[in-house]
Amino acid sequence: MTIAGVPRAEFGVCGGSGTLSFAFPAGLEDERVEVLAEDLVFETPFGRSPAFTHFRVTGPRGPREALTVKMHGWRRGVKRADASLQVFSVFHEAGVRKVLADGGVGSLNHLLDPRDVVIPTDFVDLTVKQDIYVRGDHLLIMRQPICPDLHAHLFGSASERFGRVFRRGTYLVTDGPRFESPAEVDYMKRMGADVIGQSLAPEVFLARDIGACYAGIYMVVNYGEGVVKAWEHAELKAIFFEESADVARCVIDAIADADLEAPCGCMDLRKPSLLNLPQE
Ligand SMILES: [Zn+2]
Repeated sequence: MTIAGVPRAEFGVCGGSGTLSFAFPAGLEDERVEVLAEDLVFETPFGRSPAFTHFRVTGPRGPREALTVKMHGWRRGVKRADASLQVFSVFHEAGVRKVLADGGVGSLNHLLDPRDVVIPTDFVDLTVKQDIYVRGDHLLIMRQPICPDLHAHLFGSASERFGRVFRRGTYLVTDGPRFESPAEVDYMKRMGADVIGQSLAPEVFLARDIGACYAGIYMVVNYGEGVVKAWEHAELKAIFFEESADVARCVIDAIADADLEAPCGCMDLRKPSLLNLPQE
């Protein structure tokens, strides 16, 4: 697979609602960040990609390059799973080794409140379209779905910027874009998840498929229906605009500070598939 024109990048960023409300990353006015190119669209084997921004972060470990894309507002007629395949085929072509994500989530766990930050460690995938892959030539073991090294960097940065940050949690993924009914939330709570959203799968296993680590930072923007109390749209909107820059700074911190050679073990959970042995 070759996709023309894709620049090299060590990091891929799946931008969710945490970084949607402003021009990420230029809008941060962070002196570590230099935007190299914007509105990069590529023809992938899965269709035309959404627009990427290519940027450089210069931190204590030297310059790193990253590609970011907004995972919301997909073009009508393009299913989310197909768009994720376009994004991850571009990440693969770029040589991405670390994928970071951000987003807003609803709460399932009644200990959580809006503006709490969760750096999840596990997930339940209730999305419908499952048999998807960019390469498809590896067995993807999900014993440790989230990279512990990227996780530690996101947790450390978030702990400096936010009041309540949770270092463990299970993220339940739905197709969306609608929110859930009270009966669905009740059912999902029983599955053992803490937060609910639409931006962790298929990305978490597409990352492993292309040989990259994955971790994400998620802010609670509303209570799940029937959890604690009815949520307010005004607060969801306020969080969207007020907190997004600090969420984005955590992502930039992780790009600047993460160890590309960290002995995180993620790639030990990616084995050559026994289903694709070479033909005699
Ligand atoms: Zn890792």
